[in-house]
Amino acid sequence: MQNQGVRRKKKQLIHEMFMQGNSYKEIAETIGSNAAAVGHSVRLYRQKEPDQWPRVRNYIEPLTIEVQVYNCCDCSALFAIENNIEIQNDATCPFCWEKEHLIEIGINKLKVDEKKIG
Ligand SMILES: [Zn+2]
Repeated sequence: MQNQGVRRKKKQLIHEMFMQGNSYKEIAETIGSNAAAVGHSVRLYRQKEPDQWPRVRNYIEPLTIEVQVYNCCDCSALFAIENNIEIQNDATCPFCWEKEHLIEIGINKLKVDEKKIG
């Protein structure tokens, strides 16, 4: 019974990541498997529920950038800035225009559509 629960969770996670446009490799890294095994699972899932696993995805690999997330403890704004040392040095709260109250929350990965940035 427990096995079934684990399997269902794994399927949910794969589905979520699949629909977000992650590659089999990225999904495999997240669930601790390999790309071929994930591809195999997706094929099996698709046989049972073809509507849930659309084959044609108008998918372009998004650009992944690293961003530093900041919290301004003055106005409580939460914002992220590209993780680039030159930019970080000048980081200011976009609302208060100062840097004294900024707390570094951590580095995050952000996927962006390359066509939309200059
Ligand atoms: Zn602020």
